[in-house]
Amino acid sequence: MPKAARTKQKWSHKKKSKVALQPLGHAKHAPTPDKWGKMIQYGTFQVTDEDEKEYGFSVDDVVRVLPNGRKVGDKLAIYDYWISRILDIRATKESDVWVQIEWFYSARDAAREVPTFDASRCGLYERLRSNHIDYVSSSVFDGSVTLRKYDETSLDQDAILEDDFYYRYTIDVANKEISPAPRATCTCNLPYNPSDAAPDALMHFCPQPACRNYYHSGCITTKGAPPATERDRGFLLRDPDTGVYLELDLMSSASEPPKKRRRPSASHGAPAPEGLPAQAQALLDGLPPVLVSAAAQPIVKGGAFPAGGVVGNITAVLTARRLVFEALRDGQKVTDGWQAHMPDGWQALVDVRLGEGVSATRRPRVARWSAGGGFSKGKGKAKTDDADEVLALECPGCGGPI
Ligand SMILES: [Zn+2]
Ligand SMILES: [Zn+2]
Repeated sequence: MPKAARTKQKWSHKKKSKVALQPLGHAKHAPTPDKWGKMIQYGTFQVTDEDEKEYGFSVDDVVRVLPNGRKVGDKLAIYDYWISRILDIRATKESDVWVQIEWFYSARDAAREVPTFDASRCGLYERLRSNHIDYVSSSVFDGSVTLRKYDETSLDQDAILEDDFYYRYTIDVANKEISPAPRATCTCNLPYNPSDAAPDALMHFCPQPACRNYYHSGCITTKGAPPATERDRGFLLRDPDTGVYLELDLMSSASEPPKKRRRPSASHGAPAPEGLPAQAQALLDGLPPVLVSAAAQPIVKGGAFPAGGVVGNITAVLTARRLVFEALRDGQKVTDGWQAHMPDGWQALVDVRLGEGVSATRRPRVARWSAGGGFSKGKGKAKTDDADEVLALECPGCGGPI
């Protein structure tokens, strides 16, 4: 029988009871390699629980398993389950269905294998993809979950909700290695913990191409102030991907055809004129205010900004900055369908109120920008009552506004 036909078959069997596994070991009565090779391969199987409810599982599903020592009916948070991905399903008869899985280790389990790994910097729903392959009975599965890969360096990372499982590291169990090495981008050398909801643990992204790092709110220092030229929406005149400024003198040319492409300045470091040029302001004024406001938001991630889930708002804000920059560069209005370029749910991601996220005790220097009144700087807790107010903090890496 061809494999394709087999994978359409389904097993449907009564699940007598859920069986807890030995810790990441082989289950009792697991098939031998010889037996496994002779078993018939299936693409899906179904189990029925005590309440006659049916659950279907397929190859590639990410599934949760009742941890060893826990009984059915125990109150268990979803993040306390063991997580694995189904690689293969084989059976000899209805009551003898076995599943090949790869385990996704919890941070604690990973730290047992690699003691230098700091489990305290991982989120509750975080797992590490492993090369630990196992064979378990179909009766151990409790349900399916969502699991996403998280690339911390990506500027276009898909959203990961607060209660989605995710992994950013892989553990090689045999060689006791974790890769990539946890990234400590902040001056404190501590990696991002997505489940830390403390205001000081909120991380700010510095979009300067030479920097492109995240810094903890609590690690942003008070020394110095953002460069004067950056203290307003002037940063919207930078190409968000290259950091290159628009050549502003071209913008002041009244005779320039509106569709002529403006040339970005060749120099990354060339300072923009003090304040936002009137022409640039006029162009910004011609764009949808909600888009400009989205582009001007700080880029943050962390438990103190739950709307952003694990990834934060980087994709939404950078998409808005690209749309605004392209409109300014090309001297064009943003077309009506601009929202289609924004990621799903972007509206909730561009309403960052940092009042609670900025430490009141450390009193970082806060740059305040309000739509009506330009820029002022000051120390202290940021106001949050003005929806159009934009905050700029000083990047501890490069000194730019973040
Ligand atoms: Zn830090
Ligand atoms: Zn920076």
